[in-house]
Amino acid sequence: MKRFDAVVIGGGPAGMTAALYLLRSQATVAVVEKLSPGGQMLMTHLIENYPGFPDGIEGWRLADAMAAHVDKYPHVTIADEVTAMEQVPGGHRLKAGGEWIEAGAVVLCTGARYRRVGIPGEKELLGKGVSYCALCDGNFFRDQVVAVIGGGNSALEESLYLSRIVKKLHLIHRRDEFRAQKCFQDRCEVNPVISILRSRVVKEIQGTDKVTGIVVENKKTGEIQTLAVDGVFVFVGFEPQGDFYPEGLARDQAGFVITDDRMRTNIPGLFAAGDIRSKDCRQVATAVGDGAAAAHAAHAYLESLAAS
Ligand code: NAP
Repeated sequence: MKRFDAVVIGGGPAGMTAALYLLRSQATVAVVEKLSPGGQMLMTHLIENYPGFPDGIEGWRLADAMAAHVDKYPHVTIADEVTAMEQVPGGHRLKAGGEWIEAGAVVLCTGARYRRVGIPGEKELLGKGVSYCALCDGNFFRDQVVAVIGGGNSALEESLYLSRIVKKLHLIHRRDEFRAQKCFQDRCEVNPVISILRSRVVKEIQGTDKVTGIVVENKKTGEIQTLAVDGVFVFVGFEPQGDFYPEGLARDQAGFVITDDRMRTNIPGLFAAGDIRSKDCRQVATAVGDGAAAAHAAHAYLESLAAS
């Protein structure tokens, strides 16, 4: 069985940073990533708040730059998913791509994926007008009418991106106050393509072969209206990604992994970084910080293993 000093699971900004720091500390590293490196950056048109890029940087470009940096250092990449993981003496054993590998330290960076809103029609019309990725699917709705559900940074930022493609966009949020940063709110409010519907919930997505409309309830008046739309983009938060975690791993109520400020989980030798962590602020910048801190702690852990 192949053994590495460290295995990093996930190739988003947290995983790439953890791998980079571990490789620079001379550790042998395997990175397991089932898709291309980049994670959610690949679904983001323009990243405007990563320091150093005053005009913003396209998500794919930042992902490529990080991957090129990691690739400067020899390491093993496993283009598959981890399906099982368990503790063994001196480390952890993982099943990746059908093969077992072993490592002294493991850094979990599997990130999060968009949550489903859980209304009739959402599952049935997925890929037929229901989407969770504006960058991937926005072009299918050129000059058409779409709805965006949500009131956080994702919903507003993606609405601004879509407003350059679609004819009309209904931004539907369940409360009066948005959770998103003020700069996104201000830009949505003055955007002529975006119509903001506050205190409204989407009760149903209608259509058979494709989305044709949504049923919307006004939470203040109880009024129900049907809006004709060609597409529905859902951005109602994130949920943790990955179902292979070892038994006994401490997670919060929503399933995110609990760590201390050195990114250590409750299991020795197991670290977590980025969006998979239980935390408030999920940004590329915080994922990078988590990745560096996790690698630092993993390096110290590997040294303690070697000394024992
Ligand atoms: P979020 O911040 O958790 O916001 C989710 C939004 O969806 C909230 O407005 C919430 O409403 C609404 N919502 C949740 N469940 C709903 C339901 N069942 N029906 C209708 N609406 C529902 O999620 P996010 O916007 O995806 O962002 C996730 C994280 O990534 C955040 O930390 C965010 O800051 C970060 N992010 C940052 C950027 C950036 O900085 N450029 C871009 C994207 C994401 P309530 O407000 O009423 O709870």
